[in-house]
Amino acid sequence: MTARAEVRETVLSLVAGEPYDSGDWLERENPVRPSEVVGRVSIVSSDGVDAAVVAADQAFVGWSALSVEDRIDQVLRACDAVAAEDEQLATLLTLEMGKVPAGTLGEIRFANTFARYCAGIVADLIKPRRTVDASGRLEVVHEPFGVVAAVTPWNAPVILSYLKVIPALLTGNTVVLKPSPLAPLAITRLLSTLGSNLPAGVLSVVNGDGPVGAALTGHPLVRKVAFTGGSTVARHIMRATAENLVPSVMELGGNDAAVFLADAELSEAQMELAILGSFLSSGQVCMAAKRLYVHSSRIEEFTDAYVRVAKDLLVTGDPLKPGVTIGPLINRAAVARVEELTAAAVARGATAHVLGTVQSESVVAEGYFALPTLLTGVRDDDRVVAEEQFGPVVPLLSFDDVDEVVERVNNDPLGLGSSVWSADVDRAFAIGRRLKTGYTFINSHNRYGMSMKAPFGGMKGSGFGREYGPDGVLEYVQAHSLFAPAATEDAQGYPGQSS
Ligand code: NAD
Repeated sequence: MTARAEVRETVLSLVAGEPYDSGDWLERENPVRPSEVVGRVSIVSSDGVDAAVVAADQAFVGWSALSVEDRIDQVLRACDAVAAEDEQLATLLTLEMGKVPAGTLGEIRFANTFARYCAGIVADLIKPRRTVDASGRLEVVHEPFGVVAAVTPWNAPVILSYLKVIPALLTGNTVVLKPSPLAPLAITRLLSTLGSNLPAGVLSVVNGDGPVGAALTGHPLVRKVAFTGGSTVARHIMRATAENLVPSVMELGGNDAAVFLADAELSEAQMELAILGSFLSSGQVCMAAKRLYVHSSRIEEFTDAYVRVAKDLLVTGDPLKPGVTIGPLINRAAVARVEELTAAAVARGATAHVLGTVQSESVVAEGYFALPTLLTGVRDDDRVVAEEQFGPVVPLLSFDDVDEVVERVNNDPLGLGSSVWSADVDRAFAIGRRLKTGYTFINSHNRYGMSMKAPFGGMKGSGFGREYGPDGVLEYVQAHSLFAPAATEDAQGYPGQSS
């Protein structure tokens, strides 16, 4: 057995405005060299979770009483403090979860831009609406909930945290967030910078695994839960929120289909978009294209172009080495799952096309790697088609007509994203409208097809509630109506209510 290397980074959770040192640590290894410990973060006890929520509840009084302009100023200044450290944070995130530095730095900068986008729209969105007409005087104000409990996964910890924290704070809520133990270091450091630049208790970060998440999301002072992750944990959380009668936003997994119509452009640039739409971050993205449906008249041309373009585009290896575009998976279990799904499809007659090149065979052998693979000759009931693989293996299926492919795409318990690729954009929109998913990309998929203005979230088993866009801000307020009828006979209530 190899000796574990020294811990490089020590990061403390943030509870009630103070760094939290319990003496209890959670370590995270480097997925490229699993014997190397990247760092450790302090685990928060159940008393610590309670202290964070109580502090958030107390801080809510002052924070929600500020004007929205004051909150915008404070939050953006705190975001500037994070931006000043973005390169170090990006390197730490790459070391702990394996995404290439361009991806981790891009994620942090995108999160900062998202904060500015929210700051630009929030005041108008939550402004009180007052009307006076013959029926009476109506005032609708938008009020924050109170303490928001946020629980996030490891695959894009920064943006997935910002999507909750920023709208919640700007609208006057306070937040306690629990990151994933699989990538806790950079996000804890980042949110601690953010939280330390705000009044104590407004933002706390508590680390640990399931029990810490359960203590947080089930805490009786929590007024709203925002969760991104898998459906098993979502069900656990919803049992607690049901008990406490607390609303939630649930951003769960996806099994996105990408539909390439007979007239889809298969140029090198479009193929690059298609390939990255599946393999960005080694396929570990909720909205990655996870099953490809190509019109039968183009299937050979598509396969050839895909394999050819991927050859130069996908280089698997240590993400810190120049030229590498595909890093490791998050852990051994993820590698085993991808291998199992691939083997099961091959055993039923599929062909595996390994894509791209390898930067270093020995690196790939040591770390948590699975090589990017396109599977042809698969069927709809192969597990790699029917289940979310969350890794770098993508099945390719063919279809003959549009009604058929719409039915096959929709015949899935999940409904997060989808895409339609066609030279005729109007037709792509028309077909896209028939897909039962919360987001449909046109001639793109995944990060390249995102707009901050577009609400994002799932249908069916992919969850409910929205992030991004105005809807993503309005998730964190509740309407409070005040109404004075002008005269009972002119008001719009039920006639004869007293009888
Ligand atoms: P996960 O559900 O295993 O864990 C998510 C978080 O929940 C972690 O922080 C974990 O520690 C915590 N947790 C575990 N048990 C808990 C409990 N009992 N109570 C409260 N919290 C608990 O998910 P994961 O493996 O980290 O992430 C992968 C999944 O997330 C995939 O299915 C992916 O598609 C999904 N995802 C969805 C979106 C989206 O926007 N819809 C975005 C990214 C990832």
